[in-house]
Amino acid sequence: MKYVSTRGGMAPQAFSDILLEGLAPDGGLAIPETLPRVDAATLESWRGLDYAGLAYEVLSLFATDIPADVLRRLTAAAYNEQVFSSEDIVPLRPLGGELKLLGLSEGPTLAFKDMAMQFLGQVFEYVLTERNTTLNIVGATSGDTGSAAEYALRGKKGVAVFMLSPHGRMSTFQRAQMYSLQDENIHNIAVRGVFDEAQDIVKALAGDLDFKNRYRLGAVNSINWARIAAQVVYYFHGWLRATDEGGAKEVSFAVPSGNFGNILSGHIARSMGLPVRRLVLATNENNVLEEFFRTGIYRPRGPQHTYATSSPSMDISRASNFERFVFELVGRDADRVKALWAQLAEQGSFDLSERQPDFERQYGFVSGVSNHDDRLATIRQVYEESGVLIDPHTADGVKVARDFLEPGVPMLVLETALPAKFSDTIEAALGHPVPPPLALADLESLPQRVTVMDCTQADVRAFIEANAKI
Ligand SMILES: *Cc1c(COP(=O)(O)O)cnc(C)c1O
Repeated sequence: MKYVSTRGGMAPQAFSDILLEGLAPDGGLAIPETLPRVDAATLESWRGLDYAGLAYEVLSLFATDIPADVLRRLTAAAYNEQVFSSEDIVPLRPLGGELKLLGLSEGPTLAFKDMAMQFLGQVFEYVLTERNTTLNIVGATSGDTGSAAEYALRGKKGVAVFMLSPHGRMSTFQRAQMYSLQDENIHNIAVRGVFDEAQDIVKALAGDLDFKNRYRLGAVNSINWARIAAQVVYYFHGWLRATDEGGAKEVSFAVPSGNFGNILSGHIARSMGLPVRRLVLATNENNVLEEFFRTGIYRPRGPQHTYATSSPSMDISRASNFERFVFELVGRDADRVKALWAQLAEQGSFDLSERQPDFERQYGFVSGVSNHDDRLATIRQVYEESGVLIDPHTADGVKVARDFLEPGVPMLVLETALPAKFSDTIEAALGHPVPPPLALADLESLPQRVTVMDCTQADVRAFIEANAKI
């Protein structure tokens, strides 16, 4: 399997080659030249596998340049009970009727980013060791992604992490989660500024090609194809578990969406032949994607029109992975993709409304919006009806999923975080906070390892120079 760019300007490359890169050299995103197919017999033959075994089967279709025995070792190291707090890794729980909850948040940081990041940590270490090289990951975080990256890369050979976070602006729990890591290769940098300013510094450093090459800077952002591939696994797992009893053959998935990374993996699974009926895209008040699926017009918004909501990990106005889906929509015509993104840069939007009827007919996509009141009401309702406590993002998924229920078709809502991470909103919905999971009860009393500095490029640059792996 080789990978090409959505904008057509990259010679075909192997999985390990695109693994360590961000954007393709032409500004596009890496995508398989042709998608692998999984036929019904193969799918059935996977039914008896545990999660790591299934991950091996699915990922071996994408990472064809990694030897089979190595990939088996990497998937086993990523998905086991030492890392995840559920024996199933991804448990499936009933919410009543056709509604079910696919638990993607049993990893170390209690959010679904762990699902992909744990595999990424393993495969990074392997490829860097093979190539006898090092990588310095530099990123900015306001929560989930940064901590998932740190937990996945802690103690890994050949890689260091420099994670900028806005000083004094994360929750006590988030701070404790990140800053309590004592590994020598994890560097928490709290900058006196807001998230966007931290992000600007990261972009400026990555844009300084001399600095980037000298210190081998890398990123683990959500456009990384290995993350998309690792997420495909749980769509297969969810389908298998939902059809274990027989009966249903088709399954729908509802996905709380921001950057279009999670649901893109569902689209890939469906394109590989998994019998997925609908992919239900749920947004919060930042409904750029819902607007696209409803009208065919894609109109990203600027930071001043991006609302801060009570499902903050979905407060995104520019969906970085969306380009991979548009590539499929326009028949894999890279020139057309290039033209659409040029138009986006010039005019701020593009219009594919002539294809809008196909979004559902051909690709199974439907969408809806959930707002703050919906979120609180849904948390309350689900808790009262089934005794299950869900987080605000997952609540957005449940709210929208309910509008698309069909008899006989299991509707799997992807649980993208645990409620303990968002205790304030749970308290607003139910009148009482959520205690953290037992294993993390004393997290906030652990010693913290963090360097506080001014939010300037010079300060961050000097810190990286002094601490980078070279
Ligand atoms: C990242 C995240 C999302 C959004 O996922 P995308 O892949 O960006 O669509 C939703 N919920 C939670 C809790 C997240 O951390």
